[in-house]
Formats: sequence, C-alpha cells, structure tokens
Amino acid sequence: MSLTTLVFAKQVPDTANITGQAMKDDGTVNRAALPAIFNPEDLNALEMALELRERVGGRVLVCTMGPPSAAAILRQALYMGADETILLTDRRFAGADTLATSYALSCAVRKVGSVDLILCGRQAIDGDTAQVGPQVAEKLGMAQVTYAESIEWVREGRIRVRSLIDGGHEVVEAPLPLLLTVVSSANTPRPVGARRLMQYKRAVTRSELAARSGDRVYEDANQLAAEEQRLRRQGLWIHEWGVDDLGESPEHFGLAGSPTKVKQIESVVLTGGSYKDIPPTDEGIQGLVHELIADHILS
Ligand SMILES: Cc1cc2nc3c(=O)[nH]c(=O)nc-3n(C[C@H](O)[C@H](O)[C@H](O)COP(=O)(O)OP(=O)(O)OC[C@H]3O[C@@H](n4cnc5c(N)ncnc54)[C@H](O)[C@@H]3O)c2cc1C
Repeated sequence: MSLTTLVFAKQVPDTANITGQAMKDDGTVNRAALPAIFNPEDLNALEMALELRERVGGRVLVCTMGPPSAAAILRQALYMGADETILLTDRRFAGADTLATSYALSCAVRKVGSVDLILCGRQAIDGDTAQVGPQVAEKLGMAQVTYAESIEWVREGRIRVRSLIDGGHEVVEAPLPLLLTVVSSANTPRPVGARRLMQYKRAVTRSELAARSGDRVYEDANQLAAEEQRLRRQGLWIHEWGVDDLGESPEHFGLAGSPTKVKQIESVVLTGGSYKDIPPTDEGIQGLVHELIADHILS
C-alpha cells in the first residue's frame, strides 16, 4: 500500500517566551518580538504520519502557510523524517483569518493532487481557534475526524481511528481520503535525527536560493535552474508556492479573503494582590460558583 499523507503545520510564536510587545496596534502578531516554533500539536500530527509510514509505507509531505522564515519548521520536519515539504508564502496571504487560511491550504491540497490522509494539529497555540482543520475538510468535501489519538489500521481504502470524546474514546471507521485533527496525548514526537539534520540543513526554498547568491555566484538563470535541479535530486528542495501558483483569484486569500476584522486589541495583564481565600468546604465552593455566575464567567 502506498499512502500519501499531508501534514499541515503552523509556525507559531513561542507564547511561553514573549520578549516584547506581542501584538501590533493593527491587531496582528508582532512576530519579530516572539521566537517562532513548530506548533506543538502539529509535531504530534507529524509523528502520527511518520509512524503510519513505518507501518504501511508511502510518503509524508508537510505544508505550512507563513512568511519566508516559516521554512525553518519545514527543515525541522525534514530532520524528523518528512519526505517532501511545501511553503505557501506570499504577501497576499498575510493577515488571513481561519477562513482565508483554510482556503489557501485546501488549494494546496488540490495542487498536490491525490492525497489519502490529511493530518492537522487540533489547535494552534496562538490563534487557538481549532477551526482550520475542519474548515479545510469542508472546502475539500472530505470526511473528518477530530481529536484523533491513534490510527488503529489502514486497509483497502478504509481507516479506523480512535479519538477523544468527553469522558472517553470513540472508535471510528471511515473511507479515505480523510482529514484528522490530532491531540497532544496521541504520541511523543521523535527528536530531530542528527544524521538527517546534517543531510537536510541545506534544504532551501527558491527565495532562499536566490538570496544565498552571496556565497555562490549564479551567472544567470540557467545556473540557478541547474542548482535547483541538483537540490531537487538530493531532496533538498522546499517547494515554494505563492498565490499565482495556486491558480485562484487573490481576493480569497489573506486580509482580502478574511471576513474576521479585528476591532480592538488589548493586552490582558494579570495583576497579583487582589485575591480571595476560598475555604475548601461545600459552602466555600458554592459561594465561589455563585460569584462566577454573577460575574458572567460561568453560565
Ligand atoms: C490572538 C489571535 C486571535 C485570533 N483570532 C481569530 C479568530 O477569532 N477568528 C479567525 O478567523 N482568525 C483568528 N486569528 C487568525 C488565525 O490565527 C489565523 O487565521 C490562523 O492562520 C489560523 O487560525 P488558528 O491559529 O486559530 O489555527 P487553528 O485552527 O487552531 O489550527 C489548527 C490546525 O490547522 C493547521 N494550520 C493552522 N494555520 C496554519 C498555517 N498557517 N499553515 C499550515 N497549517 C496551519 C495546523 O495543523 C493547526 O494545528 C487569530 C490570531 C491570533 C494571533
């Protein structure tokens, strides 16, 4: 069996290590002030894809939409074992809400062609909406299972998945192609392999290759094209697609394609000091619950 699995991964601000003003006045993330990392649950999705390839064979592709610097998480995916990587980058993708993001990702799936399984993280630690996975499935007219924790088997075009539900698990069988969103309890992502790191650390996108002309002079476009072919043969080529490569009209992407308008952004600064001791008694807890309901925190 040869299964093509596509993993969607997002480069996110390391919200545990904020070093400056996290949000810009226009409501977008100030990525310069935040170290960028591989979204944690996307690492679980990638690990699930790699484990499945070890069981049934096939190819693992990883795709991210982001600024050119997002190529860094694609190199990390190659170090972990991915076969091929795709960077969706274009100024016209910027400022996308979940609708515009899922639109761009669904266009990338169509461009890849026959994909049997799409794995997403359940949620990104910055936007935190958990909307993109289900939206991509909807746009592709594909079945979806969310909160997936393990794949029990894949055979003859069908798959059995174990997913988390309130208070337990659910086992679902479905036809391929299918989209899964993966939870953090699914597995422990493997560490980056030293041998693969040495092998893939020079993997580049077209923009990085052009920018890299510093250490090697490419006389002309032919030399650049020859270098691209050499890198492709060695598996060191990160596909770079923009709006024009997706063959769709630009108004569906980025801020233009985003009905969500950020009205106001305010930083929530939690101050210490104003706290209340709640006695660990039934009355104490009841009093707390009444207060939370009165403050419309609990409904
Ligand atoms: C603080 C904050 C609040 C936001 N609030 C909203 C909001 O209320 N509504 C709204 O529409 N947008 C919102 N956004 C924008 C939203 O973050 C982006 O649209 C984002 O690209 C996708 O949403 P998400 O981060 O919630 O991802 P989620 O839906 O939580 O992501 C789920 C999975 O989808 C995949 N995925 C998500 N983004 C990408 C990507 N760029 N490349 C590849 N795979 C990806 C990953 O597998 C990820 O684990 C917000 C952004 C921020 C920073």
